[in-house]
Amino acid sequence: MAPARVPRIVQWLFPGYTWRIPTRERVLYLTFDDGPTPEVTPWVLDELARAGAKATFFCIGRNCVTAGTILQRIRAEGHAVGNHTWDHSRGRRMPMEDYLRSIARADAFTSGTVFRPPYGSLTRQQARHIRRTHRIVLWDVLSGDYDPRIDGERCARRVISTARGGSIIVFHDSLKASATLRKALPLVLAHFAGRGYRFEALPFATEA
Ligand SMILES: [Zn+2]
Repeated sequence: MAPARVPRIVQWLFPGYTWRIPTRERVLYLTFDDGPTPEVTPWVLDELARAGAKATFFCIGRNCVTAGTILQRIRAEGHAVGNHTWDHSRGRRMPMEDYLRSIARADAFTSGTVFRPPYGSLTRQQARHIRRTHRIVLWDVLSGDYDPRIDGERCARRVISTARGGSIIVFHDSLKASATLRKALPLVLAHFAGRGYRFEALPFATEA
């Protein structure tokens, strides 16, 4: 099971990626990967609205075709949209050209300034190319919501015990993570709101 906190050494070894937004303020950056999903994303948006929270959605291009109205709602409610490739491509297993094409295709929907590689899988060469057009955003807190061995309460505890001001936290608005997310997200929102934290969209991801 992957640890909740990305080790500092890993973050230090890959300085070209955004892992966290350095700040002393009580602000957290929730991110939701793999949507938009009709069964899950509207619920996430309702929860965020209830908490007055903004977030960033790293969308799969292919899903944006079928869930276009949800994508519109994400934007209309003040959240940011990032690129997560066309079909959840795994960078290290793909030739450069195919991978870049997958990103470009998704860009038509995500109109991207930010990109998150699925599985965090990216070669250094791919990263060099992508950085010409996108900021590459990973995370410093992994909720583990996709892991069937982690239930909702444990998922929330992982986030609560690991996140600090400026943390970028990964959840998934996917069917696979849905049951865990539905328990964990309200707990996380309530915990941090009660301690004076606010939740914002990634600052450089907001479109003009
Ligand atoms: Zn993903």
